Parts: sequence; structure tokens; C-alpha cells
Amino acid sequence: MSCVSSYKLMKKASAEGYAVPAFNIDNLESAIAAAEVMKETGKSLIIQTIPRTLAYGGMSVYPAMMRSLTAGIDDVDYAMHLDHGSSKELAEKCINCGFSSVMFDGSAMPFAENVKRTKEVADFAIPSGVSVEGELGTIGGKEEGDTDLEASYTKVSEAVDFCDMTGVSTLAIGVGTAHGIYKGVPKINIKRIEEIHSAVSTPLVLHGASGLSDEVLRDCIKAGISKINFATELRQAYTEGIKLGMAQNPGVFDPKIYMRVAIDEIKKVMLQKIEVCYG
Ligand SMILES: [Zn+2]
Repeated sequence: MSCVSSYKLMKKASAEGYAVPAFNIDNLESAIAAAEVMKETGKSLIIQTIPRTLAYGGMSVYPAMMRSLTAGIDDVDYAMHLDHGSSKELAEKCINCGFSSVMFDGSAMPFAENVKRTKEVADFAIPSGVSVEGELGTIGGKEEGDTDLEASYTKVSEAVDFCDMTGVSTLAIGVGTAHGIYKGVPKINIKRIEEIHSAVSTPLVLHGASGLSDEVLRDCIKAGISKINFATELRQAYTEGIKLGMAQNPGVFDPKIYMRVAIDEIKKVMLQKIEVCYG
């Protein structure tokens, strides 16, 4: 298995009308789950970690785990991606540790500042073959209440300018999704995805997809999304899997017994998302 850039996987997905699922991993168990589903399905994945995960497990640990776990599986590529990177310094460190793709999330900054900071990362990373994901618009967060949806959507003209000015490989857009768990039924602006997709050639990313129905996910892909991020549902499956594994094996104190149950629960969610994303 080769570790390639997210852009390479997403360009193919965009041309062929599917999306690459991007799974956030937290530890060895979620890394094992990801490696096993790639081996079993032969489908490429984007494996990603947020900065808090790197602080938890160690920056070089995650790409090293994926390299080891996928060694010898020759017919499928994957990408190792920094999700929601917050600085050029962090991007540099990740690339030095073997990441093939990095995100710089300047979406909370004023437009000009977002452009400037994202371009710095793109200028540095892209020539070395690493893809860079930028973000424009607002993706709701766990702590937020009801956000003003219309104001948070990525504007088409800004997406065009942002891609031109930064040279980013891929772009995350705000179209009504939120990170974490949805409080009500999410309203996704499919039309806005179509409009941005027809205005820019940059492959588009959807964040905050946990909790969206399969039907909505398929509509997003049809409209032009070529990477979909899943984190919350995987963490939920893992946590429920540990509880299930302990309930099934009372008195057992070897983590390898109940963790195997947890790995299988993560895999069930991953396999289902792969089916939806690849169509
Ligand atoms: Zn995100």
C-alpha cells in the first residue's frame, strides 16, 4: 500500500463520481479497523487525525502505525492527512513525520488573512507532493447553538477567489453541516455544493458528516463532493464496542479480548460509509 496525497485520491473520485471517505483515527484500534477495511474492500481511504489526537498519541505514531498495518497490501493506496491544522509549523512537522496531506483551517479568520495563511502552507507543501486542504465558510461546532445557516454558507465568488489566490489542492466548504452530534435535522444546501463545484475545479470536502442520512450523503456526492469526513460516528462505535466487549466477556481483564469487539464495531460503521461513498 502506498501513502499518496489526498488530492490524488480525490481527483480520481471527482472524475468518476464518488467520494473518498476520510476517517479520523484516535488510537491503535481505529488504525487496525481502517487497515482491515482497506484490505477487505480494496477501497482507498483518507486516514486523518486532528491536532488533539496528535497531542494524545504522538505525531509520528499515527503515520507509522498506518505504514506498518498496511505493509504488504499492494493494490490499494491511502492518504495520511492532518485534519484542522492550525499553523504552518504544525503542517511542517506533520509532513516531516510522513503525512501526505495537510489541512490549514483558517475559516474563522477574515477572508484576506485566511488566504494569506493558507497560501503560505500551500506554497510550502504542494511542491513536495503533499496536498493542502483549505476551508472557507463556517462548519458548525459542538459548542455552538443554532447558527445562522445562510450566513455560514460558503459564497461561490469567494470560493473562486480563494482557490485562485491560494492554490489549495482541495477545499472544505460550509453548506450547513456541523461537527459532533446534530441537535435537530440538518439542512444541507445541496444547490450551493453544485454551484461551487461548477465554478471551481478544486475537489471539494464535506466536514461534519456524522449523523447525515445516506440519502443526503449521496446527494452531496452527486452535487460534487469528493471527500467526506467521519469522526463522531466512529468514536461512538468504538465506545459502544468497548462496553459490548466487556458485557460479552465479564471478568476478562485482557484488553485484546474486548478491544477486538470494539474494532469490529468501528469496522461496521466504516464499511457502511464506504458503501455509501463509493456507491
Ligand atoms: Zn472538520
